[in-house]
Amino acid sequence: MTTVLTTQDVARLVQRVGLPDLLRRLVDYLEADYLRWAEFDKTPRVAAHSPDGVIELMPIADASLYSFKYVNGHPRNYRFGLPTVMAFGVLADVDTGAPVLLSELTLTTAMRTAATSVMVAKRLARPDSRVMALIGNGAQSEFQALAFHHLLGIRELRLYDIDAAATAKLARHLGSTPGLTLTVCASTAEAVKGADIVTTVTADKTNATIITPDMIEPGMHINGVGGDCPGKTELHRGVMEMARVICEFEPQSRIEGDMQQMPADFPVTEFWRVLAGQAAGRESSSQVTVFDSVGFALEDFSALRLLRDMSQQLGLGSPLDLIPQMADPKDLFGELQLSAQLQAA
Ligand code: NAD
Repeated sequence: MTTVLTTQDVARLVQRVGLPDLLRRLVDYLEADYLRWAEFDKTPRVAAHSPDGVIELMPIADASLYSFKYVNGHPRNYRFGLPTVMAFGVLADVDTGAPVLLSELTLTTAMRTAATSVMVAKRLARPDSRVMALIGNGAQSEFQALAFHHLLGIRELRLYDIDAAATAKLARHLGSTPGLTLTVCASTAEAVKGADIVTTVTADKTNATIITPDMIEPGMHINGVGGDCPGKTELHRGVMEMARVICEFEPQSRIEGDMQQMPADFPVTEFWRVLAGQAAGRESSSQVTVFDSVGFALEDFSALRLLRDMSQQLGLGSPLDLIPQMADPKDLFGELQLSAQLQAA
């Protein structure tokens, strides 16, 4: 039987261990998989674009496990009371093709994206980073904020969103976090001034220039999360030109990341090489670094592995009759007849 994890199951799983611990475990799983980079069958995600958004399938496999995520990005979904990003995914056994786990991935995407941001910032941000600007205060923002606070030592957050209600929601959720100071700012420029790390996590289907070269200070690390689709960017190209740019999977990032604005020979480094010690991370305390995050299938593979392991340990999830359980695997028609008989009885 396939195990299904609902949003409630994943929320319970987070409550059992606490969000900081879950984020730490995610970073461990992500690093373990990023260090096995060559073992994965990788492909840029498959996207179906429409005027208001995108729906994407994100497959990946190693020799024993296969996963995919279904995810959308519709920045104007708030008009319908829906989140910008919604997702679910499957982990399957390569030897048989049997789906092992079917899970919600909306909450999980926010956690794995925050864990990925921290994993990269550990190698790219200055080790003495304590102040982070957080531009875009929507669904992803609390997860980014708490990951950087608990796992990287950020003590002050400078918040800005064009929607003051979104910032008020974020401040309400994080206001009582011990050791974390919040400053609500009137503009992106005000929030970014003096920050060690700048996280942009805005949603707008346009080539936005949230961060411009005049805002950049020596030694800043930019964690660019919201520029993740053709025609949807956040960083002015001048910022990219000033920085050492790290990406996840170059063939996908060239299409989707902020680097889509740059020429085909614009120099970028895949993160796995930094993690494996094959390429430098930050090269000096004054260097400007950019993580051009778009979200790669490997991160969902790692997250699904963690959900599988933790749900087994904690006894969470329910069996789902997704694939017929047949006495004779060649008699699918017989299953149909049996089911009809059972319903008639
Ligand atoms: P959301 O709609 O809940 O929040 C986005 C926020 O950005 C909104 O509050 C909006 O008012 C704000 N915003 C829009 N334009 C702005 C601007 N010019 N200045 C300041 N704020 C602005 O969306 P979300 O779920 O938080 O996702 C945020 C972004 O992150 C999306 O673009 C999404 O596609 C992206 N994302 C990326 C990854 C990844 O792995 N890189 C993963 C998940 C989401």
